[in-house]
Amino acid sequence: METLIMRGKPAADAYRETIMQRVANALGKGRKVTLAIIVVGDDPASHVYKDRLMKLAESMGIYVKELLYPADTKQEDLLRDIARMNHNRYVTGVLPMMPMPKPLDSDTIGAAVTASKDVDCLNVKNVGDMYLGYGKMSPCTPRACMATLEHYGIELEGKHAVVIGRSNVVGKPVANLLLNKNATVTICHSKTKNIAEITRQADIIVAAVGKPCFVTPDMIKEGAVVVDVGINAVDGKLVGDVDPAVVGKASAYTPVPGGIGVVSNMMVMDLLTRNQ
Ligand code: NAP
Repeated sequence: METLIMRGKPAADAYRETIMQRVANALGKGRKVTLAIIVVGDDPASHVYKDRLMKLAESMGIYVKELLYPADTKQEDLLRDIARMNHNRYVTGVLPMMPMPKPLDSDTIGAAVTASKDVDCLNVKNVGDMYLGYGKMSPCTPRACMATLEHYGIELEGKHAVVIGRSNVVGKPVANLLLNKNATVTICHSKTKNIAEITRQADIIVAAVGKPCFVTPDMIKEGAVVVDVGINAVDGKLVGDVDPAVVGKASAYTPVPGGIGVVSNMMVMDLLTRNQ
């Protein structure tokens, strides 16, 4: 079967003009759109993500304020600085890179970002609104999955979607967004038995497991749509949670790299500028 390769760039680029218009609107009112990125410690993945966001932001006229902290930063110091950013009228959005290194509590730190500056749906009000179907907030990566499926014209209503992973940042919210689009959703996790039997029934699979090449061709049915959220470093290369050998059996597939991650970065800019 011919597989549609759902590259992230075209899906992300579809948002660029609208976002740049919002940036220009803000400038017209004398405001420069500013994203404060908080990175604690030296986790290479967080720094790579931060650098990519900075490059994208700069290409769109968005200013980024980097706040880098050592790994042994105290939680109260971080919370105090987030409170300052919440009140700083020159800061449009605040993005703490998750997960925070232990013993920092990622949930408490995420919840401290005020709802109006929360660009990754970490604040409990935004999370609650999303699960209740109010408003337009959702975390960037689940939002990127939906934007990609929409861009490539994938029909969701009445389809059986199987999400592998139930984290608060990817699995649960993407399952909720798929449900809102009238898919019938099954969520699998590390305690799920006979996972391949479930994935083989899926019209759409979203893999957010954090395990390289976890989804193999024998786990999907012919013609399934496969969304790979995974980003794993293997021998210095980025590898997804799906074995690329699904190409030829899947009807559509998001590659890694060059798939959901690219769209996810653009979703940060979309949420950052949503009120401009
Ligand atoms: P996470 O918090 O580690 O969650 C992983 C999930 O996978 C958990 O729910 C876990 O189940 C489940 N799982 C682990 N082993 C399993 C197994 N053998 N069978 C079935 N389920 C299993 O990871 P995450 O933050 O959701 O991220 C998932 C992946 O997406 C990672 O590769 C991450 O790097 C990537 N990611 C990509 C982007 C992007 O922009 N593309 C953004 C964020 C994350 P339990 O709940 O039972 O432990």
